[in-house]
Parts: sequence; C-alpha cells; structure tokens
Amino acid sequence: MTTTTVLDMIGSTPLIPLRRMTQPGMAAVLIKMEAWNPSGSLKDRVVKYIVEDAERSGLLKPHHIIIDASSGNTGIAIAMIATLKGYRSRIYMPETKSVERRKIMRMWGTELVLTTGADQNSHIWAVEEAAKDTATFFYLNQNGNEGNVLSHYFGTGAELLAQTHGDIDCFVAGAGTGGTLMGVARYLRDHGRPTQIVAIEPDNSHSKIEGLLHFDGTFIPPIWDPSLISEQVRVSDEVAFETTRRLAREEGIFCGPSTGAILAVALDKARQLGEGHTVVTVGCDRGERYLSTKLVPEE
Ligand code: PMP
Repeated sequence: MTTTTVLDMIGSTPLIPLRRMTQPGMAAVLIKMEAWNPSGSLKDRVVKYIVEDAERSGLLKPHHIIIDASSGNTGIAIAMIATLKGYRSRIYMPETKSVERRKIMRMWGTELVLTTGADQNSHIWAVEEAAKDTATFFYLNQNGNEGNVLSHYFGTGAELLAQTHGDIDCFVAGAGTGGTLMGVARYLRDHGRPTQIVAIEPDNSHSKIEGLLHFDGTFIPPIWDPSLISEQVRVSDEVAFETTRRLAREEGIFCGPSTGAILAVALDKARQLGEGHTVVTVGCDRGERYLSTKLVPEE
C-alpha cells in the first residue's frame, strides 16, 4: 500500500525548457514549475520547512493558531499544511487580492482577515500587532524567518543545480519576500556558480502583479540581502499580463502574472546572452487563481 501524503508531494518540481517562446540564437530558457506544488505555488516548501522546523524546536505548540501576512499564496499553503497537520490558521491579506485566493483558503478552513488595499503593507502591520500574543499565535513570519531562505536553499536551489548540472548563467525570479532569490542565490554562490541573479519588481505600488513587492522604501523584507542581487528590474502590469497569456498560448503553461513579469525579463536576458547559455526562471503560481482578474480576456 502506498504511504505517500500530500506533504510528500511538495518540492522536486520539474524544470521545463520553453520551445516556442525562444528562437535560434537565444539562450535556453528553463522554467522551474513551482506552481505545480500541491497547493499551487512556490510557498508550499516555505511553509512546510518553517512549520516542521518549529515543531522540532518546540516553538509551535499543538494549541497554536498559525498566522501570517500573505498576498495569498503563503496563506493558501498555510491553510493546506495547517489542515494536514491539525492546526488552526488565520491569514491577513489585502482586500485587493484576487477573490479566488479567499475562496481557496476558505475551502481549507482558514480564517481570513482582509486589510485595506490603500497601503500595500497593511496586512504586515496587522499581523505584527496580532503576533504580540505569543500564547495564542505562532507567527510564521515569511518576511523575517530565515527558514524561508533555507527552504529555497536546500529545496529550489539544490534541485536547480542538480537539474542543470550547474549550468545556469542567469537566474530570474520575483521579489516578494525575497525568499526564492536569496535561497537560490546563496546556494549557487556556495557551490561556486557565477550565476547572474536578477530580481523582478512591479513598476508601481498598486500593481496587479500579485505576490511581488514594489520597492518604494516603505518596507524591506528583513531577509532581503541586496548584495546577492546582480540587477533589479521593474516590469509593468501590461508586459506581465501579456507575457503570462503568451506562456499559456505558446507553451501550454497557465501561471499567474508574476510568472509573466519574470519571464519577460528572462526572455530579454536570453536574447542578450545568446545561444549556448542558460537562463532559469520560475513558474510561481497557477493561473486559475486569477480567473476573475483582467489576466483572462472576457469571452
Ligand atoms: N510570485 C507570486 C505569485 C508570489 O505569491 C510570490 C510570493 N509572495 C512571489 C512571486 C515571490 O516569491 P518570494 O516571496 O520568494 O520573493
């Protein structure tokens, strides 16, 4: 009888070469499909790592309610993993995020606190207030917990090095908490790879590229280390949405708009680097999470 659980399905995601969006003369572009983790995003490995670490160290107690601020994907991963492990959970999320996110979290039975959309960081201020009650809550703190970086270091970074045999000239990823970028960059650096690390952010703080942080100086995630980043590039909503649609239509991969934002820059890098080089990018979350948004054209 099989003993596989949903938790065992987290990580070991495929790395898929893009065939139609690249042309001869360009570098190869490979997409790490984090969207195909069981709850649908790159956050499953982060939440699993931090929760299991806190269980081992005794910081997380059976009666604790797991809380965090999330643009949706961490909340969804917490909702799934808390349910699997028998904890209650509560997520703080800005009201501007897609309605699909709210519904998915409710399906897994989490409690949702919606904060104002006027401030892109409102959910972070709200959870930090609640987190003072340490008897009731376990604050997962994806923005400040080193486990976020380590989950990508030992997970995404190690997998990428093995999947490419170390042949990565450029890694392009989105900056939300910075966990993906910091973890992968550190792993590649520690293994002697001179990979160029490119961080993507939206070009304004009211962007509809959910999950990415516009660095306007109002909040810098504590885990963010700019010395690991070679270049930080701003992308517009229009470019992100259009590239996301192309990914679905030309490659059969339906992801959310942060993936399109990252991919647009990855394609530019692949043109600049040219044949014989390799650019790696990330499929961050599933496109079905955005059916109600303007990503999907009306019939
Ligand atoms: N894309 C999406 C859709 C996300 O939800 C996130 C995380 N907020 C990211 C990209 C960026 O990931 P990270 O937090 O590791 O920087």
